Amino acid sequence: MKILESKTESAFPACSFCDEKTKKLVLKNIFKYEKKYNIFECSSCRTWITSPNPPIEELSKLYSIGNYRAKTGKRFVPFLEKIIYFLTVRKRNRVKGYVSEGRILDIGCGRGLFLNLMKKDGWLVTGHEFDEKSASYAKNNYEIDVHTGDLKGQFEKESFDVVNINHVLEHMKKPGETLSECNRILKKGGLLVVAVPNIDSLQAKFGKKIWFQLDIPFHLYHFSSKGLVDLIKSKLFHVDLIRHFKFEYNPFGWLQTMLNASGIRENHLYDLLKSSDLKDKNNKYFPSIDAVKSFLLIPLYLPLALIFSAIEAVLNKGGTVEIYSLKK
Ligand SMILES: [Zn+2]
Repeated sequence: MKILESKTESAFPACSFCDEKTKKLVLKNIFKYEKKYNIFECSSCRTWITSPNPPIEELSKLYSIGNYRAKTGKRFVPFLEKIIYFLTVRKRNRVKGYVSEGRILDIGCGRGLFLNLMKKDGWLVTGHEFDEKSASYAKNNYEIDVHTGDLKGQFEKESFDVVNINHVLEHMKKPGETLSECNRILKKGGLLVVAVPNIDSLQAKFGKKIWFQLDIPFHLYHFSSKGLVDLIKSKLFHVDLIRHFKFEYNPFGWLQTMLNASGIRENHLYDLLKSSDLKDKNNKYFPSIDAVKSFLLIPLYLPLALIFSAIEAVLNKGGTVEIYSLKK
């Protein structure tokens, strides 16, 4: 039975966009949560695919112990929460540059920070989440209507002015189907905002298996900026803007990846910055050698992380990208 299992794990998965088997193993033997994962590349669309693809029940369990669900609604230490709030306001303003008011759907709305801001601004807001557990905070604290379960067919066609998918598409079992569904439920000329980590970025190429944004096994698909743009275009959207500098993701992506490359326990700084609610109670945080090493290296690595993120952005190779598209 063991042998059978390992055979399945090493099998080349099919690309869900091109319906053909992947032929190239790009990253192998990534050990996470006591399991081994590999990443394969589709030879036609170049998307990377995580294998094995964990079943829904297993993912739900992993989300509970991972970085994604905070009962208090705070994911990080207070000063980072302030920065995140400020950047969310800026995102609202960018969206309003396209559509000044209306109805918005946030797919993977999480704790509802963005939707709550939009709601305060007079928008009609709806969220979508993986399951009831993930939906409960936004529902109970901000009284946001959060749907769960299969996205397909949940909403009326042409009923939204804006659909937002922020760092969620890579978590989905059927990302292509999700984008088709976005097109169906958006009004003509409606705005789709998609943000994902970018495998074509300099930080991805530098970090490889220890790249902070790889996030195995939560990320089932890994997109390049060009690959995702082509995919969005194929779903009948006009791509208007591709942002390669995301302040809340890219410099930290570099910083944590450089720390990972320095022999410090993987993603240790990220763990330190999480709210106490999300910290793993079995992990020792302070005083640990890893924490001391991280804090000694930050003064050196942080300026580099900012410089590298700026260079990435100029070269259109940002660690994460945010794409603004309009329905044709
Ligand atoms: Zn493909």
